[in-house]
Amino acid sequence: MIRLVNLCKRYQLGEGVVTALDNFNLQVEKGEYLSVMGPSGSGKSTLLNMLGLLDTVDSGEYWLNDLCMSTLSEEGLAAERNRQIGFVFQAYHLIERMNARENVELPLILTGIPSAQRQKKVDELLDRLGLLDRADHKPHQLSGGQRQRIAIARAVIRRPSLLLADEPTGNLDSHSGTAVIELLEELNAEGITLLIVTHDPAIGERAKRCLRMCDGRLVSDRGG
Ligand code: ADP
Ligand code: MG
Repeated sequence: MIRLVNLCKRYQLGEGVVTALDNFNLQVEKGEYLSVMGPSGSGKSTLLNMLGLLDTVDSGEYWLNDLCMSTLSEEGLAAERNRQIGFVFQAYHLIERMNARENVELPLILTGIPSAQRQKKVDELLDRLGLLDRADHKPHQLSGGQRQRIAIARAVIRRPSLLLADEPTGNLDSHSGTAVIELLEELNAEGITLLIVTHDPAIGERAKRCLRMCDGRLVSDRGG
């Protein structure tokens, strides 16, 4: 499903250059569950941003479902991102003036699905995730764990094939963190390919396959 060939990404930083991804190679099959660990600055977020088509690489190839991403136009990339990829961030990135239901509905508005059908889809998903009773709450009226679970609902409402989570429990206490991880694992069990970046070894070890990065390189790949 994913094939990365010699991916390189550098950032200019003042006088110097930082190599965030250094000839990174990886293959992931559909439905896999991976964690990505490694010290701060080792390139984990850069990797996830590349996989999520939020940023482009300097060189190398990213194949997603047999399509080479570097051959696509801006519109082509946006279409792939919207159709295939869900992204969850540490800081939730919900829209504060919208309630939970409206936040989850947002990705569907771009699809042209009629309003009544959108509402039905959103409520079904919120119900399944045990969040329907929070649908009318604004983000500031929700706990961190509830916000993250709403952000996950928003990430999967279009049924992407790939779900990327960058330190999704980083702002949560361990109880809410576990609930968030269990939700991600439930979605993986339904077939979505899942990559979680985490600092927490207990979370990292739950994944069937654990990647470890250092200085922009893959230094270990356990269970792959
Ligand atoms: P991690 O998520 O593992 O902490 P990152 O992928 O965020 O690591 O960063 C990898 C390296 O790239 C770090 O040295 C970081 O400072 C650098 N970096 C990341 N994003 C940028 C950017 N937008 N501009 C300059 N340097 C960056
Ligand atoms: Mg990071």
